[in-house]
Amino acid sequence: MSCQVCGSRNAKPTILDLTYEFEGNTTTIQGVSGDACDDCGEFLISRTDTRRVSDERFRFRNGYLPTD
Ligand SMILES: [Zn+2]
Repeated sequence: MSCQVCGSRNAKPTILDLTYEFEGNTTTIQGVSGDACDDCGEFLISRTDTRRVSDERFRFRNGYLPTD
């Protein structure tokens, strides 16, 4: 697996917990799969989990927005 950021071949399939911050509040999105690059430190979320991560971020942000 090569890194899409730096082109290194040292990106490895990894599962980790992502921290997400919005206006000073943080949440953790657990068990996100992707590729972590040993060289540049970048973590690229897998296609499988991209949707779930963006949904969880969206829900978290909505929790802090005023409702109509
Ligand atoms: Zn890289």
